[in-house]
Amino acid sequence: MESQIEVKNPATGQTIQKISTTSVEKLPAIFQKAREVQKDWAQIPLKKRCKKLTDLRECIVTHCDDLIDLISNENGKPKIEAMVHDLIPSLDALTNFSKSARKVLSDRSIPLINPVLKTKVSKLDFWPLGIVTVISPWNYPFFLPFTEVIMALVAGNAVILKPSEVTPLCGLKIQELCEEAGFPRGLVQTVIGDGKIGAAIIDQKPAKIFFTGSVNTGKRIAKQASECLIPVNLELGGKDPMIILSDADLDFASSIALWGTFANSGQICASTERILVQESIADEFKKRIKEKVSQLKFNPTNMKDTDLGAITFKNQKTVLEKQIKDAKNKNASFLTGGKFRKNKISLEPTLIEDNGADLEAYIEESFGPIAVIKTFHSIDEAVELANRSKYALSASVVTSNLSLGEDIAKRLETGTVLINEVAYAPGLTETPWGGLKDSGYGKRHSDIGLLEFVNIRHINKPISRALIFKSFWWFPYSPYQYITFRKMIAIYHKSWFDKLKALPLFLWNFVQFFKKEKRL
Ligand code: NAD
Repeated sequence: MESQIEVKNPATGQTIQKISTTSVEKLPAIFQKAREVQKDWAQIPLKKRCKKLTDLRECIVTHCDDLIDLISNENGKPKIEAMVHDLIPSLDALTNFSKSARKVLSDRSIPLINPVLKTKVSKLDFWPLGIVTVISPWNYPFFLPFTEVIMALVAGNAVILKPSEVTPLCGLKIQELCEEAGFPRGLVQTVIGDGKIGAAIIDQKPAKIFFTGSVNTGKRIAKQASECLIPVNLELGGKDPMIILSDADLDFASSIALWGTFANSGQICASTERILVQESIADEFKKRIKEKVSQLKFNPTNMKDTDLGAITFKNQKTVLEKQIKDAKNKNASFLTGGKFRKNKISLEPTLIEDNGADLEAYIEESFGPIAVIKTFHSIDEAVELANRSKYALSASVVTSNLSLGEDIAKRLETGTVLINEVAYAPGLTETPWGGLKDSGYGKRHSDIGLLEFVNIRHINKPISRALIFKSFWWFPYSPYQYITFRKMIAIYHKSWFDKLKALPLFLWNFVQFFKKEKRL
């Protein structure tokens, strides 16, 4: 049954638009349409599909200002973040995949190692999965679903997009932009609603599910998908550590931690939520970051002149409230924040000092403007602390010694490590993105991520018509055949002396094998 969603600007509380949800009964027709359109789309040459991405890029550039307004209004984020975090990486993604897809998805030859097989050629042929579903969250309402959608399209798939019920307008806009850019109608269809319609989409058996969201929902989806063996790619939560070494410039270190923790109001899967700072600089670091927090502007009625945006999803407040309460109950001290503002939903930028009491805010994902500061003595201790988490999405290392930073990076069990940068890796679509442990599995973006959107077919054939013959290892099995292969092991895998020793017997048996054996 259809119902209505009232989409509100989370920063002002004003209604932007009321839209109807998609009823479950409509899904079979939506899938049928996608099936029909995808068949033709898959026949379009790869080069032309890549060209369509550049058409889409032009279209987005034309609507750039409207899109920034939409993203900012629907999500409650500052306009600069809508542009720099959502829009610009989306444009970069179009540039990237319009070029890289030609290389990555074109047929590829694979040289075969065994000399007996030199008469054959193997190649990989990449073909579309069919209909894929993209289920996305609200924190990057445009960028996150958009990159999945364009990767799916360039690979020849149709997409059923289910944006978050909190930010459905960006999802609808993605469909509209694709149609305006000339992608066939029905190739991208946006389904509106909450988790129930998300689950109903999976019941329609899409070829693959690309899910971004919370760990609990990810587990639920993986379980449902496993019933029908539908492959799932899961991008889930994070609890990213930032390791700040004593050799770091303190002004730089306090700025990177400030942005890493509070950009997008902390609602980034790759936000810094655990600040690990070396003991010798901890006091000065805290002093500086506290001072910088006090300078952050919060101006919800003017998203062009604010550093901090809104808490987008009101239910997130419950998580933040619980973590604050837990820290207070455990007598942790608050370097900054810890209180909700007058609007009752926005939390002041909050930095909690760890007191060894297993704070929830140190262990569980906050997904809001909270980080816990913990000190360490040695690098070994920092690495151990960083790795001690059920999440493993990404991490940052702050140091003026870049080679030491890289050594530490290689000891961190996580998907991405940024040295002297923070939280921006999901926006680099040239590089793979994805975590381990409770942060999910599978890679997004990059050449590797593009391959998640295709079936891979291996094709093997003789190099030429003249080389169509019965293979040596077919029936009948015989002693000549056995000795030929046995001597071959020596010829190809042993010393020169052993090779020469094996050669006469190899040749003799090989000739006998041909002369005396009639292949079946
Ligand atoms: P969520 O799990 O509540 O919802 C995500 C999406 O799943 C929504 O569209 C929702 O309607 C849908 N959904 C809910 N139940 C479903 C079901 N049973 N079947 C199908 N679909 C269902 O997450 P959220 O609150 O929207 O997003 C916040 C979470 O997303 C955080 O944990 C954050 O870390 C994570 N996230 C991860 C990444 C990443 O790249 N790893 C990026 C952004 C956000």
